Amino acid sequence: CGIVGYIGKKEKRDFLIDGLKELEYRGYDSAGIAVLKDGEITSFKATGKLSNLDHKVENFSSTGFGVGIGHTRWATHGKPTEANAHPHWGQFSYIIHNGIIENYKEIKDELLKDGITFLSQTDTEVAVHLFEKNVRELGDCFKAFEKTIASLHGAYAILLITKKEPDVIFFAKNAVPLLLGKSSEGEVYFSSSDAPLIGLAKEVVYLEDAQYGWAKNQDITLLKEHVQQQLDFKPLIHDKL
Ligand code: GLU
Repeated sequence: CGIVGYIGKKEKRDFLIDGLKELEYRGYDSAGIAVLKDGEITSFKATGKLSNLDHKVENFSSTGFGVGIGHTRWATHGKPTEANAHPHWGQFSYIIHNGIIENYKEIKDELLKDGITFLSQTDTEVAVHLFEKNVRELGDCFKAFEKTIASLHGAYAILLITKKEPDVIFFAKNAVPLLLGKSSEGEVYFSSSDAPLIGLAKEVVYLEDAQYGWAKNQDITLLKEHVQQQLDFKPLIHDKL
């Protein structure tokens, strides 16, 4: 399973698909991407090999400033169907997640009481609906994301995009690898490992457990337990032959 993300002007499809191919060695049963540009989110999912997803996105192009996320899934909760493939969405936000949300059942029961409809059997889907509930209550996506992450117990690498903050990728990491990178042109990348970023990102930050934050275009905010963290950028060594 794996995760990639991108903020910038280049063709979103290319990095998302090529990046996921670099993460294929981690194993997966389905895959998906979502791109947010000009206020609209476009998403594709497919079961099986990445070539199935590749085929679905071949006529999709997204250049110009935008944000994109990509995911390969290794099912833990719910069968490897297209409905259970990530991204999962609510009314205005899309999420991808590797890992397990241990307390998803309690969260889901609360959301069901609120009348939320679920489209998948995954643990992941609760996180996007909880985020949107918090946005409705707090009126602020950043505070809502912090509150959402504080409610999740378990292992996760998460990326979330929302129409309400169209130049932002929200991220969180606990017990599942996630790193972020920057190119010399100021593009921001996310990935489960450095392999997809070689030749693209100039420097990277290997996130620590319980860290979360957001990249608003090129400006990255990193937090842990509500306290701002230093971004410890390291050069990415291009040792590919
Ligand atoms: N627990 C999530 C699911 O079953 C994520 C699995 C993964 O790590 O890919 O959809």
